[in-house]
Amino acid sequence: MCDECFAKFVERKVERTLREYDMIERGDKLLVALSGGKDSSALLHIIKSLVPDVKLTCLHIDLGVAGFSEKCRPKAEELASQEGVELEVVELRDFLGYSVSELASRYRKACSPCGLARRYILNYCGSLLGATKIATGHNLDDVLAVLWDLYVLGDLLEAAKLQPVTRYVHPKALPRIKPLIELTDFELKAYVDIKALPYSPAQCPLGRESKLNRRKKLIDVIESMRPSFKHTFLKTHVKRISPLLGPLLASRAASWRSCARCGMPSKGEVCGMCRLKEHLKRG
Ligand code: AMP
Ligand code: ZN
Repeated sequence: MCDECFAKFVERKVERTLREYDMIERGDKLLVALSGGKDSSALLHIIKSLVPDVKLTCLHIDLGVAGFSEKCRPKAEELASQEGVELEVVELRDFLGYSVSELASRYRKACSPCGLARRYILNYCGSLLGATKIATGHNLDDVLAVLWDLYVLGDLLEAAKLQPVTRYVHPKALPRIKPLIELTDFELKAYVDIKALPYSPAQCPLGRESKLNRRKKLIDVIESMRPSFKHTFLKTHVKRISPLLGPLLASRAASWRSCARCGMPSKGEVCGMCRLKEHLKRG
């Protein structure tokens, strides 16, 4: 396949995913989460090509990971300006009082607070900007690497939350769409290179990715022995297993309420982010 046909193949796949899951509806305003990495760069470019009239704003969260974030932010800025879209940049430090590198030097693990803060900031800024949905660049390999562990551990409820589209659970927990969920790392890397899109190939040095990369390698081996394993795994998860868990998930979703401190979605009286901030303040 020549480069041009390959790029068309990638775009058609996203078009099918958008249609199959009704990801973008009339009146939507998207918040595109732009990390500066290859996936979200491809995401923005493909959405702009397929749905040129959609209202969208991009958000980049500067995590403050030394040796990594300085490479990502300029790429997100360059891409947004090339695509002619608005980009908001916020610093995680302004929300949490610490950058991720500062967190990592105080606590051994910074990945789970970073993940929690990223989810919070996306919802917070998305609500503030009047977005109706958040679009992220999660791809097939990312999703399967996480699903693998959840299935092995039997944590089906957590697994069932991982979907191409997650719906409202609270007015400030915006629905999320993953338009790249049927494309692999390999396909997306080839796409951004063919299109010469700005992106940073840097990987976060703080650890989580190495575990995910090990799972990805394992799944790649299975795929090489059983072609289509990846797509079958995703379809089985979305179309066969998840519907069985629907009622259980719905009852869990009903338990969301508003955080007593900040009003954002919370399972308990105070949300994870406010609890994390208090914990950090106590030192
Ligand atoms: P990751 O969990 O790093 O694989 O990222 C998955 C998706 O989350 C990316 O494709 C982006 O859409 C979004 N994302 C991750 N990091 C950031 C960031 N620093 N700023 C904005 N969006 C992000
Ligand atoms: Zn809160």
